[in-house]
Amino acid sequence: MTDSEQTQSLCPICLKRVSARREQQGDAVYLVKTCPDHGEFKTIIWQGLPAFDTWKRPKIPITPEVTYHQVDRGCPFDCGLCPDHRQRSCTIILEVTARCNLNCPVCYADSGRKSECDPTMDIIDRWYASAARAGSGSNIQLSGGEPTVRDDLPDIVRMGRQHGFGFIQINTNGLRLADDPSYTKALKNAGLDSIFLQFDGATDDIYRQIRGRDLLDKKMAAIEICGQNDIGVVLVPTLIPDINTNNIGSMLKTALKLSPTVRAIHFQPISYFGRFPEKTEPLKRLTLPELMRAIEKQSDGLFKASHFQPPGCENARCSFHANYIVESSSRVRLLSQPTGTCCTAEPEPADVGAVRSITRVARQWAAPKSEKTKVLPMAADQQPCCSQDGPQSLDDFLHMARSRTLSVSAMAFQDVWNIDLERLRDCCIHIMAPNGDIVPFCAYNLTGADGQRLYRL
Ligand code: SF4
Ligand code: SF4
Repeated sequence: MTDSEQTQSLCPICLKRVSARREQQGDAVYLVKTCPDHGEFKTIIWQGLPAFDTWKRPKIPITPEVTYHQVDRGCPFDCGLCPDHRQRSCTIILEVTARCNLNCPVCYADSGRKSECDPTMDIIDRWYASAARAGSGSNIQLSGGEPTVRDDLPDIVRMGRQHGFGFIQINTNGLRLADDPSYTKALKNAGLDSIFLQFDGATDDIYRQIRGRDLLDKKMAAIEICGQNDIGVVLVPTLIPDINTNNIGSMLKTALKLSPTVRAIHFQPISYFGRFPEKTEPLKRLTLPELMRAIEKQSDGLFKASHFQPPGCENARCSFHANYIVESSSRVRLLSQPTGTCCTAEPEPADVGAVRSITRVARQWAAPKSEKTKVLPMAADQQPCCSQDGPQSLDDFLHMARSRTLSVSAMAFQDVWNIDLERLRDCCIHIMAPNGDIVPFCAYNLTGADGQRLYRL
């Protein structure tokens, strides 16, 4: 490995900061750490190709313009943000309720078991103001709990618009959207751009295991009603080994079939925080390269591992992405990356990548603007194909590039077993704590082996 092998992590038992190293064994890389009180812990962080060493995108770190905490106890105990952080916010998540209309066996927020009141509109107003100060121009995600249990969610969306945020998304299980079309319409009228739809598979046995009941019909109904209201849909599968990792190909097919309403599929391998079904198994996890290869294999080569790029915003080891034009339900064209964003380009200031990511996400995850005015005929279905030839004219190409795109991406969250504080300091996905602090997502959700939390109440 050419990267520095040394980093810092946390003891999963006492949550003290400990030294750690990234240790290569064959084509696998492990995070190995030793707590003076609780011994050694070893967790897989990378398995196979593309090689760990090659998956990088160097950035010039920046200090966030506004920080709400001084450096005192050191990372990760000074969130946030503190001046040691190396990236600005790209997405700020506001949790507008702890209530939920499901009680899933898997939930990073451990939602639906708490009885506290929802934050008032005054509090949410202050959160928006704090978000605007700390991360001007950031995208906003309204989350929970399940945000659609609030009847006033359209007012919350509208308030975000009034604060000047350009892209607002809700993180939802889709149940209320499917059942209540007038509510979905009200959300759109208030300024909602997109939903981040919990979507764990294309068969109901998966929902029974992960969510406790059949849900596929509800998911499809939610997607349909969003399409009718020009709300973009991002399918968000939580991937759990032995439950739905063999369904990746079927989920990709669903995304293609439902494009352009479905704008993206964003995989999230399960992390061990919040609520999860079994005793923690730190070695049983899907790493990013395994997921890239599974996508290629299960899509019969339509989406190739070599298409994926490391991110320009967060730490390279957090995610991957690729964008495509959908030419038919079995034919896609890889969109080349904009000039200067390639992983081989010279390092650029981290906030330049963040601003580009904010714009790209807002454009890609919202409904296409021009689709209703001009719909190109799709090519007849054929063998799965990532094409080289395509639209006949520049106009057609530009239209397809605006309206018929699908993004395929993934983010591997960090939990107490695999957390690498180097990665954490580059985080751009931030949660608004109830007191207005801005905390990197993986720090906010971090859960010790005994359930102890670092930040989440
Ligand atoms: S994660 Fe960032 S904000 Fe939090 S303590 Fe570490 S450097 Fe500071
Ligand atoms: S949320 Fe976690 S995995 Fe995502 S960018 Fe932040 S540190 Fe990386």
